[in-house]
Amino acid sequence: MSGCGGKGGDKPLTDCCSQPGLMPFEQALAQLLDSVQGGQQPVEKVHLTAALGRVLAEDLCAGLDVPPADNSAMDGYAVRVADLAAAAGKPLTISQRIPAGVDPEPLQPGTVARIFTGASVPEGADAVVMQENTERDGEQVKMPTEIPLGDHIRRRGQDIANGDAVVKAGTRLQPQHLGVLASIGIAELPCYRPLRVALLSSGDELAQPGEVAGPGQIYNSNRYSLTGLIQQLGMELIDLGTIEDTRAATIEALQGAAAKADLLITSGGVSVGEEDHIKAAVEQLGEISLWKLAIKPGKPLAFGRVGQTPFIGLPGNPVSAMLCFQVLARPVMMKLQGAGELHPKSVMLPIDYQRSKAQKRREYLRVRRVEQDGQLVLKPYTNQSSGVLTSVAWAEGYAVIPADAQIAPGDLVEFIPFSELA
Ligand code: AMP
Ligand code: MG
Repeated sequence: MSGCGGKGGDKPLTDCCSQPGLMPFEQALAQLLDSVQGGQQPVEKVHLTAALGRVLAEDLCAGLDVPPADNSAMDGYAVRVADLAAAAGKPLTISQRIPAGVDPEPLQPGTVARIFTGASVPEGADAVVMQENTERDGEQVKMPTEIPLGDHIRRRGQDIANGDAVVKAGTRLQPQHLGVLASIGIAELPCYRPLRVALLSSGDELAQPGEVAGPGQIYNSNRYSLTGLIQQLGMELIDLGTIEDTRAATIEALQGAAAKADLLITSGGVSVGEEDHIKAAVEQLGEISLWKLAIKPGKPLAFGRVGQTPFIGLPGNPVSAMLCFQVLARPVMMKLQGAGELHPKSVMLPIDYQRSKAQKRREYLRVRRVEQDGQLVLKPYTNQSSGVLTSVAWAEGYAVIPADAQIAPGDLVEFIPFSELA
């Protein structure tokens, strides 16, 4: 069998050998997304207090108006506008007092009602006069003669109308969504169960932080950057540590992981060296494609399934591993999780960078935004090597430099902040 051949499944996967050259990013992403189905996670009820970051599984509709009645936006007096004109500045009698939470009587003609912020406006009143514009003397109060109809009244249903779909299925719940769902009285939210993501690192050179690294060893950093990225997405991490670089150990680890997880992610071991066992192991257990992506950093990416569990093999280089996770694995994970928004939102900003020769690969520069003459400008980190993880730690996001493009300082390029990848 050729090195990149799949074993055949429901859907044939493309491999690098049938594709001359490098695979464009968009093609890889489209193929990855196409291969998984969203909305398959079981649905569970989650209380408002535990639902932050969870993905809503159904549209939630209001069963009431918010606010439920016209209410006052000010402390003051509920009035009938026509009565103020008729009184022509003479004091009017205060006929009732309406604090918030009280069901008021209809407003008696020719009188005003003392009212407080959030209290229901009585039937018959058509405006609220703020108390600063009145002069009170016992149970009498002097009013302005002219105020606009509806002044300082918050209308019933102005926020939410009964029947409105307030938060849509696929929303990753943020504090504001929890607030708005609380405002329609819903406590238990139908959410997709968090995706269970098994993470494995491959490489005999890897030592664990906290241990003494032996000769030729480096510390396993991918395990922790990738753990953080998975947790940031609100998913359940199944941390399977480091796999020994042998075929047998790799097969055993992958099989065990596939049984427990909704998605398998590995780092390292997907280059074509003889120490790279992940490819052969996944091939034996399911199906794998190896892609040489037209992106920098992050050329080798493996993709397939172990049994029926989707598998993504990230490159070993620490920056490549993070980037490939963020721009390729993340959208797939979002789709599996049932999220509606799969892609980060980027902005165009000028960059302080020069590239006089076009390249074959799209480049993701680690950049910060700095202010120059009142304008935000992207500044790349000095060392953009795929092994320099400090470039990511220093940066605020990625500047995307298209392949085949020359760049001069001040050119606008796409900026993806890390916050959009969380
Ligand atoms: P590989 O893809 O396994 O050939 O690894 C490519 C490079 O990334 C090598 O220099 C590895 O030492 C390094 N590398 C692989 N896995 C990790 C890891 N978990 N943490 C840090 N560096 C790694
Ligand atoms: Mg390796």
